[in-house]
Amino acid sequence: MAFEEITKPSVSDMKETPNLIDYQSTREDFDWYRDGFSGLDWLPDGGLNNAYEAVDRHVNNGKGKQKALIWIGKNGDEETYTYSQFKEESDKFGQVMKNLGMQRADRVFIFMDRIPELYFAAMGILKAGGVIAPLFSAFGPDPVRDRMEDAGASFLVTTPELKSKIDTMLPDIKTLQKVIVIDKSDTANIKTDEKTLLYKDLMKNVDATNFILEPTTQYDFSIMHYTSGSTGKPKGVLHRHQAVVQQWLTGKWALDLKEGDIYFCTADPGWVTGTSYGMMAPWTNCVTQIIYEGGFSAASWYEIIQKYGVTVWYTAPTAIRLLMRAGEAVVQRYDLSSLRFIGSVGEPLNPEAVVWGNKNYKMPIHDNWWQTETGAIMCANYATTNIRPGSMGKPFPGVTMGILDDQYNELGAGESGILAVRPGWPSQMFAYWQQDEMYNSRFKKGWYITGDQASIDEDGYFWFQGRADDVINTAGHLVGPFEVESALIEHKAVAEAGVIGKPDPIAMEVVKAFVTLNPDYEATDQLRRELIGFARDKLSAGVAPREIDFIDVMPKTRSGKIMRRLLKARELGLPEGDTSTLEDDG
Ligand code: AMP
Repeated sequence: MAFEEITKPSVSDMKETPNLIDYQSTREDFDWYRDGFSGLDWLPDGGLNNAYEAVDRHVNNGKGKQKALIWIGKNGDEETYTYSQFKEESDKFGQVMKNLGMQRADRVFIFMDRIPELYFAAMGILKAGGVIAPLFSAFGPDPVRDRMEDAGASFLVTTPELKSKIDTMLPDIKTLQKVIVIDKSDTANIKTDEKTLLYKDLMKNVDATNFILEPTTQYDFSIMHYTSGSTGKPKGVLHRHQAVVQQWLTGKWALDLKEGDIYFCTADPGWVTGTSYGMMAPWTNCVTQIIYEGGFSAASWYEIIQKYGVTVWYTAPTAIRLLMRAGEAVVQRYDLSSLRFIGSVGEPLNPEAVVWGNKNYKMPIHDNWWQTETGAIMCANYATTNIRPGSMGKPFPGVTMGILDDQYNELGAGESGILAVRPGWPSQMFAYWQQDEMYNSRFKKGWYITGDQASIDEDGYFWFQGRADDVINTAGHLVGPFEVESALIEHKAVAEAGVIGKPDPIAMEVVKAFVTLNPDYEATDQLRRELIGFARDKLSAGVAPREIDFIDVMPKTRSGKIMRRLLKARELGLPEGDTSTLEDDG
């Protein structure tokens, strides 16, 4: 180990006693039913509803006056809502959706920035039995259309600005019944019609005094997130209300959330961290959540921690690398002593960052691992376990992980292989939306295959090594090369496109494209800029290629598949490996 293990103080020397005191004994004696399922309130008829567990139950348990969320707008506006107010607003929106005819399991897309109404809408839809499908607000029209069409979206909740971005493609979504527009500043002058409705009118006119929460069961669908694979368009990962069991318990044990905590999660709800840990885990644990509408800024983030007394902070490696780059002097200017726990997810957290955090924040950063398909944290560094910088920690109690060879047989300590999990954890995805074959392909010999490569050491710590496929991880967001390639070849100049992840010191990887041109087009810098702009408009700045190289021949297999592996090897100046399936000498 290149970096020394960070030893945790004994529990009696800690500022506060953590929720998970002894990882090992808890793991040995763990029971999902006793420790997980029984910790929630459930509905009187034995049903389960994640929004009820996150919001309503606290009101029913006499905690309605506690603050559920403090919103900080981009421009410094601030709004605070108690659990009672949160219940009221979400009940109202639930009633709105019922009045509009939303049926159980209808897919409702949410395409907007982080404003309180997003959360009222999300919880309202869930309470009324709908499935929320939040999208990242930076997406351009293509990804929005692809996802809404694939899911057969019935409703869309959005804002004027984002709606105007996708207006031209909305008629393509044949299943779409209504578009609800949230005009927070009341300035957009939206033209309403039978299909386009204003949130504020709907909320003003609704009577939710008799709102009846839909009696969902743990098996009802609740949330859908799109995630990228190396082939085909992104797949809709479908989760059920049951996932809330693990989201609640991991919030409590892996992030050490306690009632009354001030919690700051920097993830956007367009990605799974923004729903599992930006909605479900914090609110089921009855904390006060800070929701910051703005993007990354070292000074603003530290300011928030200082001003609101943030106790638990959950962020991502790219942000941590940017904080490191902003420097130690900036940290010194703020009082961050309220912090008790820092977690990180989404990409490998470099060991240097763990050590830097330990020095500058006076506590290590706790890396944990999971993915859209797992729905909740699966492997973590805990408040009381020693940290080996660079390791993603140990499996959550009740979760069994293994390293497999290419025949799916388990390997021992020290060997690298496929990272796999024994199926059956509560927040396991239920399906890829209408892609059974793809879903089934993720299970082999009694294991769920994660798509990652890792190893395990003699003491049970897991070490991430990389993706086993072509999926690109840029700043914690997975990008499927196929989606980018498809966008690029829609440009008249492009004949073929191959897309790879190029290593980057901050974002881990950035998207790089190689294109061949149609006859009569010349490889110029101007065309390069045009293509980048074209992809940005269609996709989003984060997903579009940052670099484009023009090449004469696209390397492909004899069956016509673009050899991204080869493009990457060439880009990195590495040996090209086995090229026996190459189509020709391109
Ligand atoms: P997503 O489904 O978008 O949440 O992405 C999940 C993928 O992100 C995982 O399969 C990993 O490739 C990567 N990832 C997530 N957390 C970590 C971590 N702690 N260390 C390394 N990679 C991670």
